[in-house]
Amino acid sequence: MSFFKLFSHIYIEEDVANHKNTKSILSRFKDAEKIYIKHYKDIFNRKNQSYSLQKESKKLILAKKREPFIYEGSDLIQDFGFSKYLYTPTMMNCIYDCDYCILQGMYGSANILFFVNVEEYFSSLKSLENSKAHLSISYDTDLLAFEKIFGICRLWIKEISKYPNIDLEIRSKSANFEAIADMKPLENVVLSWTIMPQVISSKVERNTPSVIKREEQIIRALKLGWRVRICIDPLIYVEGFEKIYGDYIDSFFEKIGEQKIEDVALGVFRINSDFLKKMKKRDIRNELLFYPYDVRDKVATYEDSLKKRMLDFTIEKLTKYIPKNRIFLSKN
Ligand code: SF4
Repeated sequence: MSFFKLFSHIYIEEDVANHKNTKSILSRFKDAEKIYIKHYKDIFNRKNQSYSLQKESKKLILAKKREPFIYEGSDLIQDFGFSKYLYTPTMMNCIYDCDYCILQGMYGSANILFFVNVEEYFSSLKSLENSKAHLSISYDTDLLAFEKIFGICRLWIKEISKYPNIDLEIRSKSANFEAIADMKPLENVVLSWTIMPQVISSKVERNTPSVIKREEQIIRALKLGWRVRICIDPLIYVEGFEKIYGDYIDSFFEKIGEQKIEDVALGVFRINSDFLKKMKKRDIRNELLFYPYDVRDKVATYEDSLKKRMLDFTIEKLTKYIPKNRIFLSKN
């Protein structure tokens, strides 16, 4: 997919029309129609938008983020042993279209919202100067996939070098490692790729690079000395689950050979039940959403015995290759 053909229209908040990052992004989309707006919410939060139509033809919105810049992570996410698990949304929505993606239940719009005032995000890091924290910058989007449009991961990596107490995670499904491969790996930056058996990915991860391509990024990043995390999350239940995931995990570790990955984020498919309801209305052909999940405390997921079977099997398989204390599950 060429990103430069992706956005036929770009909405620009008047407040950031002259921001240097706005200008840099616009210079890459000379043919796009530019529409100046007062506030991104006038477009992004508009009522009665056709989500499915927008998904097929995403527009880009360039805007200014107002405080807060940093948020607490939820119990549905792994904390990697940190008591402070935080995320910061430089971008909302994603150029990919995974069937299980929570974003489809969170927002009324499928358009991509990018906040150009990154310098204000960086200033907010000062409040974390004295605490140990894990900070995800690509939590509900895929920032590395956007890197050719604007080198935001590169800027974050440079900035975080001043904060050795903050462990920065860049999670991705992209094949864009090349865009940052020339940078010096930092001890407090972990690159994290989501992987799953290709046969399942082909069904539920639309528009994403193939799993083999992601593995190539992992291998290259490891060779260059980066810390690399893998996310086998979400685990999706399919007939033949043990065979399909078991073979995949063996083949993955065979490919990476002697190189050591940092840790694994593991979890079965789980989602806020209100988001799931909204997603089902929006996408009635999405089989994954119509599985009879159990709902408890507003979280929809597989029933307990199936969840246990999936996790027990995967953990046992993974511990052939990585110590159990390097496998992280979410609290919920
Ligand atoms: S890559 Fe992540 S953020 Fe993007 S659509 Fe898939 S699940 Fe959502």
